[in-house]
Amino acid sequence: MQAPAIGGVQIPRGNGQVIRLSRGASLTDFADKIGVNPASLVQVLFHLGEMVTATQSVNDETLQLLGAELNYSVQVVSPEEEDRELLESFHIEFGEDEGAESDLQPRPPVVTVMGHVDHGKTKLLDAIRHTNMVAREAGGITQHIGAYQVTTEVDGDERKITFIDTPGHEAFTAMRARGAETTDLVVLVVAADDGVKPQTTEALNHAQAAGVPIVVAVNKVDKEGADPQRVRSQLTEYGLVAEEFGGETLFVNVSATQRTGIDGLLEAVVLTADAELDLRANPSQEAQGVAIEAHLDRGRGPVATVLVQRGTLHVGESIVCGEAFGRVRAMLDENGEQVPDAPPSRPVQVLGLTAVPGAGDNFLVVTDDRVARQIAERREARERSAQFAQRRPRVTLEDLESALRSGEREELRLIIKGDVSGSVEALEDALLKIDVGEDVLLRVIGRGVGAITQDDVNLAIASDAVIVGFNVRPAGRAGELAQREGVDIRYYSVIYQAIDEIEAALKGMLKPEFEEAQLGSAEIREVFRVPRAGNIAGSLVRSGTITRGSKARLIRDGVVVSDNLTVESLRRFKEDVTEVRDGYECGIGIGYNDIKVGDVIETFEMREKPRT
Ligand code: GDP
Repeated sequence: MQAPAIGGVQIPRGNGQVIRLSRGASLTDFADKIGVNPASLVQVLFHLGEMVTATQSVNDETLQLLGAELNYSVQVVSPEEEDRELLESFHIEFGEDEGAESDLQPRPPVVTVMGHVDHGKTKLLDAIRHTNMVAREAGGITQHIGAYQVTTEVDGDERKITFIDTPGHEAFTAMRARGAETTDLVVLVVAADDGVKPQTTEALNHAQAAGVPIVVAVNKVDKEGADPQRVRSQLTEYGLVAEEFGGETLFVNVSATQRTGIDGLLEAVVLTADAELDLRANPSQEAQGVAIEAHLDRGRGPVATVLVQRGTLHVGESIVCGEAFGRVRAMLDENGEQVPDAPPSRPVQVLGLTAVPGAGDNFLVVTDDRVARQIAERREARERSAQFAQRRPRVTLEDLESALRSGEREELRLIIKGDVSGSVEALEDALLKIDVGEDVLLRVIGRGVGAITQDDVNLAIASDAVIVGFNVRPAGRAGELAQREGVDIRYYSVIYQAIDEIEAALKGMLKPEFEEAQLGSAEIREVFRVPRAGNIAGSLVRSGTITRGSKARLIRDGVVVSDNLTVESLRRFKEDVTEVRDGYECGIGIGYNDIKVGDVIETFEMREKPRT
């Protein structure tokens, strides 16, 4: 290939080959792939108006721009994709159960407790743990390891439930934002003396956005002024209708301090899981799961609590967990007791890792230490380069249109934050009233009063949502996080402005709708047989214009005989013409032989319908 000079730089151009680069790659990485000197790429970019150093990591757009300039097709690979490929290169598949349907065994549900502050989440988690401790003979001091498992009897069967010991939706959503789906079911705690509060609905939003079933624990029923029925009726507004009201959600009255109603709550969790979820995993494969908590212990080194999601983890196995690896030296349960193995849904503390993994990192068992080390090292290297890179911009109102056109997205998810609850509700109402037809869905997955928090941004990341701020701004580092993660935040102070803009984006999102426009009609007066051309209709144009090439249908006695025809030939006196107006006679060929005198030929076209 010729080497044209770009801004005075001699560089061999590609011929459209695909080049794969990881997100946050540097010009040096690019140069390596195409076998040129990195310095020359720096110069090319400089002439394109961007100044970067050879080792600095650059964003997706810049890589694409450079690729286009040099005639390479650049594919930027996401970290998740890369990790999958990395594991695949070791013949490991993460996230899927191995084997056939018959290898899957039921596994306990994993539950997160959420609710408004002071409604008793922590007390409830204590009560559940304690009730269960009494039931077991084995003593031991329970300690917080991030999750615990309890046993309850339902219909004569011993059933296990795993509780995540960090209450609240912050952790839940932060995990989801990292792609770790750990929670199967949410227990929503609502204090009976206080009712539904902002964080109650926030928690609800998070759970519903994740599509996780909810069991409601109506707490503090021992208190004076407790009104458990009110909680039930309040929550119907949010789509949680109690069974006794004809709905599907189980509500259980409990007192976390008196420890009453706990068994009923556990039963409700099991019943809801049985009814709504099909929780099964293969216990016989090599273990995989997620780290839910980790810290550095002075005496024991890195300690990580992992939740096994499939397979069974055994002491002595080699594991990788995020960028940490090692051999499982010991496993401890929530009572500080040693356990030799951990089946699906079992949380255990693992000792023996080389480093402290992050919450939400995946873990998996590999064949030997060497593989574990290689995977960990490659992840670390990748993480280092990715850290500097700007993250891919996520959904923005502007890109909705093209996302829709390419069929990528048919739903706009919004999180609405406002200064007072009245404005949030008004805005949500108005937005939901925008008539966008059936093709596009507008879903408000979160709403609340007050500044835009990190938590909102995390929810937006996890659910690919746009945040609408009405008279509010991001609090603390939320703005920074949003910017880094490319979350679109829209600020408004006038409601109709917000509605106009979102409506416009939604309409842009809509697939074009077509309607038929009638062009003309002609009555058949005579039928001519023309060799090779078939039957030609000698007609009188009754209305509009008959145009050659337009779509046509044949109507006999008011009934459509054939649709989907085309005006193939159109003649006036022996001459081919392109159109014939009403009142004139002509010969029309529609490629259809069964035509009769008195039939009507209608022509029409499909026009894009403007949205109203
Ligand atoms: P969290 O912020 O949701 O974790 O709430 P806590 O578990 O810390 O409880 C907040 C307060 O409510 C504490 O003072 C608890 O003692 C009290 N509390 C929790 N559950 C009950 C209950 O069932 N009855 C009564 N009377 N008080 C409760």
